[in-house]
Amino acid sequence: MFEQELSYLRDHNLLRQLSRVEGFDGSHVRLEGKNVLLMCSNDYLGLSIHPTLIQAAGEALERYGTGSGASRLVSGTGPLHEELEYKVAQFKGTEAALVFNTGYAANTGIIPAVVDERDVILSDSLNHASIIDGCRLSKSPVDVYRHCDLDHLETLLSKRSACRRRLIVTDSVFSMDGDIAPLRDISSLAEKYDALLMVDDAHATGILGENGRGSSEHFGISGNVHIQMGTFGKALGSFGAYVAGTRALIDLLVNRSRSFMYSTALPAPVCAASSAALDLVAHDPLLRKRLLANREKFGRSLHARGIAIADAPTPIVPILCGTSSTALRLSHELLDQGVFASAIRPPTVPQGTSRIRMTILATHTDQDLEAASAILGRMKQDGIF
Ligand SMILES: *Cc1c(COP(=O)(O)O)cnc(C)c1O
Repeated sequence: MFEQELSYLRDHNLLRQLSRVEGFDGSHVRLEGKNVLLMCSNDYLGLSIHPTLIQAAGEALERYGTGSGASRLVSGTGPLHEELEYKVAQFKGTEAALVFNTGYAANTGIIPAVVDERDVILSDSLNHASIIDGCRLSKSPVDVYRHCDLDHLETLLSKRSACRRRLIVTDSVFSMDGDIAPLRDISSLAEKYDALLMVDDAHATGILGENGRGSSEHFGISGNVHIQMGTFGKALGSFGAYVAGTRALIDLLVNRSRSFMYSTALPAPVCAASSAALDLVAHDPLLRKRLLANREKFGRSLHARGIAIADAPTPIVPILCGTSSTALRLSHELLDQGVFASAIRPPTVPQGTSRIRMTILATHTDQDLEAASAILGRMKQDGIF
């Protein structure tokens, strides 16, 4: 049993395997025992090993222990849940906020809580899998619009005036491409067609905006995004997710969001680390500036070697390969030369767009970035991609 499916995946270069990674020091890890440059983590600011977060989590651990005991509706909200939600609402400039156990749980919990069969969801074709699954769970009809295509979105919106609600949902920074959704225009369309707008800031929280507050700060549209979701597990170096919005939205989610209601609450040390990360990001722009400078350096260096990449100010740099076998080959060659960057293949990305998804960290040194770029340059010359 199951072997046939596994061989199918193996034969099509689609088999995924876990490999053991340890010893992150800001730029390198040991992968199966070998020291390699880490270029696929979303811990963009290196906060997962920041002393302030570690101390906050350690103190919460001593004081509150490891587990939370039950769902917050069953055995109660802890002081650190309250504190974190207060901080998120401040950080995002909203009336209220609610934390979820993961971004996956947030998206699969929020979407079915706000729309159903009477409504319609308008979803970008490259949205994250957790949004797609949230749409499925909602039982709402879903109109998928072409990636960042405002005309297509408007055409679809204009045909749906009879629905109770129209929910536009999009990643702000697309997780596998690193490009940014045109949110100012999308929010205008939402207003014109009386639609709700939900934005997933998983890769924007702590990264985009003058103060790292995410895409709504970047575009200056805070008041126009009704459901602002983001995560603590990426640039914030912790774990979990949040949604920020009106008090009424949050109260509805507490009553309707099944991934919130029927899942054991986040443990206190995790909440403490997330709170500490929000404070750090809000008050210290240095890491974010270093990240952006690193991203620019890497982009320029690749460009000089004839490797074209899009130039969004985000830490995600996809190297497009086309087939899964090319992406796998490139990833193996990179690893041979000491660079860890995973091949991303269908169904994570559309057929024919397999890629190496490289990520830049604030903690990479100039030498790290130049070494990675030189390796890619040689492979480009060798015609590997
Ligand atoms: C990573 C990611 C998620 C899921 O967040 P987790 O906390 O890892 O479950 C949701 N949306 C997007 C766009 C992501 O990149």
